[in-house]
Amino acid sequence: MLDAVLPPVCLGCNEIVAAPGALCAGCWQGFSFIASPHCAQCGDPFAEDLGPDALCAGCLARPPKFRRARAALAYDTQSRRLVLPFKHGDRTDIARACGGWMARAGSELLAEADLIAPVPLHWRRLLVRRYNQAILLARVVARAASPRPGARLAPDLLRRHRWTGSQAGLRAKERRSNVRQAFEIHPRWAAEVSGKTVLLVDDVLTTGATAEACARVLQRGGARHVDVLTLARVVRPTV
Ligand SMILES: [Zn+2]
Ligand SMILES: [Zn+2]
Repeated sequence: MLDAVLPPVCLGCNEIVAAPGALCAGCWQGFSFIASPHCAQCGDPFAEDLGPDALCAGCLARPPKFRRARAALAYDTQSRRLVLPFKHGDRTDIARACGGWMARAGSELLAEADLIAPVPLHWRRLLVRRYNQAILLARVVARAASPRPGARLAPDLLRRHRWTGSQAGLRAKERRSNVRQAFEIHPRWAAEVSGKTVLLVDDVLTTGATAEACARVLQRGGARHVDVLTLARVVRPTV
């Protein structure tokens, strides 16, 4: 009903656009979409092409627990204008547009995924936010992409059983110990994880500590591979 009355507006700045769920030209240009070349494992963009298997210094020094991570956007001032209202402001409509970008960024990962699962929120945080933005993203990614036949959305594959507080302001090492043992496989899925390739979906990849904690639990549960797909990721400044 409302669509018929109100013209569609840009997801980034509320300027009028042609179709719902679109960005105006200005916002579109302002976003930093991540494309190759990037690190084969964590997906951090490279300034120059070092080949499809090249790893960044971070992954060489300390390989992440997940196999590969990909993200649609760099997490910067511009993409924060999209991510923050989505996370805290009930803008669930944003998921539809973002899911399409994520499906493109993660097409390789989706082609191999057996289970598509969101990073869970603790129930205390869920009470405040009322929805888990990662579930919305996982749902649109599973729909937007052409996942492999038999691939399934597993919205409650993981549970966050330990309250970890906010990760904001913590350094990488502190984040890792903060989320250690925070997750578990939902008993309903315990028998299904073995031998499967799991695609974890979240909104932002910061240090990767949360994704790694989830990956560790899934691998212990028998998962063959764990990949990670996020809407945005913190990009290390090039030196
Ligand atoms: Zn705009
Ligand atoms: Zn890397």
